[in-house]
Amino acid sequence: MSTHAIPKHPPDLSETQLDALITEAKDWQLTHGSLLKLVLREQENTVPAVPIGVALFPTLFPRRLFAEAADLQQCFNQLYMAIAEDDAWLEQALGSLIESDHLVKTLWRIHCQVRSEGFAQTLNLGVFRSDYMLHCPLNSDGDQPSLVAAELKQVEVNTVSVAGGTHGNLVANMQRAFATRGIYEDLAGASCDPLTLPINETIQSIVDALEKGHRSYDSLQGAELTGIGSRGPCVIFLVQPYNVNICDERPLEYALWERGIPTFRVIFGKNDQLRVDASRKLLYYPPEQVTSNPWEVSVVYIRAGYDSSEYDEHGTRMRLDIERSCAIKCPPITCHLATLKAVQQALTAPGAVERFLPAEQAARVRTTFMPMYLLDDSVHGKEARALAVDPELAASFVLKPSLEGGGHNVYRSEISAFLAQTPEERWHDYILMEMISSPPLENILLSPAGLYRGPVISELGIFGACLWRRSEEPSHSTTATSPSEHKVPPSLDIISNENAGWSLKTKSKDVNEMSVVKGFGCFDSPLLFDG
Ligand code: ADP
Ligand code: MG
Repeated sequence: MSTHAIPKHPPDLSETQLDALITEAKDWQLTHGSLLKLVLREQENTVPAVPIGVALFPTLFPRRLFAEAADLQQCFNQLYMAIAEDDAWLEQALGSLIESDHLVKTLWRIHCQVRSEGFAQTLNLGVFRSDYMLHCPLNSDGDQPSLVAAELKQVEVNTVSVAGGTHGNLVANMQRAFATRGIYEDLAGASCDPLTLPINETIQSIVDALEKGHRSYDSLQGAELTGIGSRGPCVIFLVQPYNVNICDERPLEYALWERGIPTFRVIFGKNDQLRVDASRKLLYYPPEQVTSNPWEVSVVYIRAGYDSSEYDEHGTRMRLDIERSCAIKCPPITCHLATLKAVQQALTAPGAVERFLPAEQAARVRTTFMPMYLLDDSVHGKEARALAVDPELAASFVLKPSLEGGGHNVYRSEISAFLAQTPEERWHDYILMEMISSPPLENILLSPAGLYRGPVISELGIFGACLWRRSEEPSHSTTATSPSEHKVPPSLDIISNENAGWSLKTKSKDVNEMSVVKGFGCFDSPLLFDG
């Protein structure tokens, strides 16, 4: 099918039409908490906030690929649950990072310590997000083929502190509200059938997952709580201080309270509020009430502790306490480590996905992988190094460190200069990934960075939620030399494996980063079309 099958989108707007649409968006966002908190300008009595970046129209997205991404999520949930339970494979995949990287080293040590003590809790919870872009490689004439030929390619999988669920849900609600109320038609002359905008229920799905974890803890521990006078159980959100993203976290917390589940926020590293008792129950002490009855903690939902700098003495102590405790971790440390790009790269090796998933599912998962290379001393590593140091060859790659939190990637021709300044013994901490070649689509983006109209690139995040039981006998033999030599992965006891919604983020084609905080990435919805 040719490009003319794709509708012209978005429509041309007059200044007046654009102003009216911007007013609608700003007002909707202000009144629904679709905001970034300006923490640096917080005062004692008030705090300013700005609407988070949004796409004024939904962005075109092939219906079949949206469905495929959603269909794949349970496979990815299963894959990452399985990796989290397979110490031997994970250790091999992390490789030298276990020694060279402060964050990986700290987390791995905590894991090993708790493993040797024995796990106090066998249930684990995960809220994941698998991110994709549309891939339309240029054809031999250098032309981008039609969007109808697009493939779905994975950018990364997030398994810890997965953000954007609430923001994505709210902005999808806004665009659906505009479509349903005829605002697009009235203000912009654009027909936008609400049926082409998928319903977003991510907030509810994440809250469902946390509730499921909480209720499972209840049934696991029975009615018996810690010693005399303890309260609970309760859910803890482990968060960062000075959080711009409060509007992404708080609605989940409030929704849990509405379901009768006490939920509290604890700042990562503030050790006076969490303690582990002799029976390894995790106890929460409300601020200023350290002598009062503590609450017993059922679930720790981790929205912090993904940056190396958070692991000073206090942060490390807190993560160890949590990991040793019988609270259900969302996620446990091995699952956190599975989010590293080194693991994503290791999965591209022959037999790796097949180790964890049945052949048919593994094959489907593999269709979403882009080629990725480790810059190590192996034969393939040396070939990849040769690509990376040549600015011309590196033009179709992105270099990624094994860091979370965004803003660390090096793109295309900048890779060789970056490597020239990086000691060669550090190169193996990076992976080289082929760039996904997204078809530029049009949209209008409104964000604290300004108003942008022009070619855009979108990233679809599919959320997944799962609850599983740790295998009784973790595999932690370290005698084999490659992951595939550990023939049998530990068996997996999956209690639930669900799709948990989606988010779409859209940025200008000309910026590499999708940072929402910097105003580049704007929340959006897919405008589904057939073809
Ligand atoms: P993180 O979110 O942990 O910083 P990502 O792998 O998601 O790391 O990369 C950040 C951003 O870089 C993505 O949101 C995407 O915009 C861009 N990006 C990453 N990998 C690719 C790729 N292979 N092709 C094109 N863009 C990419
Ligand atoms: Mg990302």
